[in-house]
Amino acid sequence: MNPFNRDPRSSPPSKRRWSIARRFFITSFVLIVAQSGISLAISGALWKNFTSRFLGSVLSRQILSPLNLVDNKLDLLSAQEAMECCTKDDYRNFLAGINLADGKAVMISGSAGLVAGKGAQALYDSGRLREFARLATESQNRFALVDFRSDDAVAVKSVNLSGGSETGSLIYIRPIYSMSLFNALSRARLISEIVLMLSLVVLLAVALTYILRPLRSVRSRISKVQLNNLDTALIPLDGQPLELQPILMEFNRMVSRLEISAQNQKQFASTISHEFRTPLTVISGFIQSVLNRADNLDVNYRESLLIADKEAFRLNRMLSDLLDLSRADNNQLKVLREPFDCLLSCHEAIRLTQFAFPDNRIIFSDASHVDPLMAIGDPDCLVKCLENLIGNAVKYSEKSSTINVHINGDDRCIYFNVQDHGQGIPLDQCDLIFERFQRAEGVSLRRGDSSSGLGLSIVKMLMESMGGSVEVQSEVGVGSCFTLTLQRSDV
Ligand code: ADP
Repeated sequence: MNPFNRDPRSSPPSKRRWSIARRFFITSFVLIVAQSGISLAISGALWKNFTSRFLGSVLSRQILSPLNLVDNKLDLLSAQEAMECCTKDDYRNFLAGINLADGKAVMISGSAGLVAGKGAQALYDSGRLREFARLATESQNRFALVDFRSDDAVAVKSVNLSGGSETGSLIYIRPIYSMSLFNALSRARLISEIVLMLSLVVLLAVALTYILRPLRSVRSRISKVQLNNLDTALIPLDGQPLELQPILMEFNRMVSRLEISAQNQKQFASTISHEFRTPLTVISGFIQSVLNRADNLDVNYRESLLIADKEAFRLNRMLSDLLDLSRADNNQLKVLREPFDCLLSCHEAIRLTQFAFPDNRIIFSDASHVDPLMAIGDPDCLVKCLENLIGNAVKYSEKSSTINVHINGDDRCIYFNVQDHGQGIPLDQCDLIFERFQRAEGVSLRRGDSSSGLGLSIVKMLMESMGGSVEVQSEVGVGSCFTLTLQRSDV
């Protein structure tokens, strides 16, 4: 396969090239995801830090008053009482005076044992209180958040009693009723981050489509360029993005060079076909007259003359193809667009090709069941197109193979199918073969046959001039079916 003419979509998936748009999109997508991940991690860490510091300091402040109360009471103890310091009841007494508003709880843990204020007892059982005390005293800053993802979230702060570790710790416990709100907020923030990220991705895709629009329009213009319409191939630079302009300038220069070369080529073909035609007709005429008049011609000479006549005929046909194409290029080709009986043309084409290829069976079938079957176009052109297709069907199939010609119609169109059971055409070549001088890769000629690569381009040009079309369906090793379509005139 030609590496300069490869369809990127036809490459195997593992070797698929990455388009600029894809690279840009994936890179931006990765960056957005990474950025969102990092910002989520940072804000998560900040939030955690903030809550722990904030709650920790609030609790420290709140704990001061109960702590002072305890200290004051300890100060009031007599020396004897202090030595026995402190019984559970003492601590219970200390705590009794502490106002536990808003569901806060205070307790004393450590050597004093578990001594809880009223509020604490009401809110939490002693097992949980012990657990809170342990968590707070063991954790960093003597502060702990318990069950902070649920509605039962609790903040705990522990402070050493003035008697030291011997005495124990004052544990201050505070339910955080707004924790579920906190969590809902952080969930909302996570969702909004994700929504933002997705919207950015969508925005990116839309922006990319917009950015690549000029490239697409240039591509679609370039894809429509054909050798015979090069004058429409020049792309105006106005309004094109700056980056594209140098490329387009080069493209336009290339088109101009191509135009000149195509013009020369057409001129050459036209001159050749005109100049060669007359001498060739003379040669053919002489060969024919010798063949017709010389009765006692040596068999070998006759054989040679027959070959010369066949080759002259072939050359003549090629010249007439070239002439048709050059006339079409110069808008001088006269193709009728009027009602005609296409069945007659069909029979004529089959008669001529059956005569030219006596070894092959050309089977005709008509599913339209309308006689006359009127189409719009030029009868001679239809004969020429059918002759071409049947000739190809014979040329690219086994010797003596059968060719089917089938007519069908619907309300608007008439379809002429020429079907063979020959070599078939690779799918990627099916459009290419309608271009001038193009032959399908992988399709071989039989010995003695010749090929110019002009036949199908003439069929296409003639069909389009009649307002019709030509298509092919083919499978390698199974065969090909070419379909000519013309408009009906009897509807
Ligand atoms: P030519 O037959 O003179 O080469 P055409 O324009 O008629 O030129 O055909 C172009 C190419 O299309 C051929 O060279 C051949 O490779 C392919 N082709 C046309 N008709 C058939 C067919 N019936 N079966 C297989 N290949 C075909």
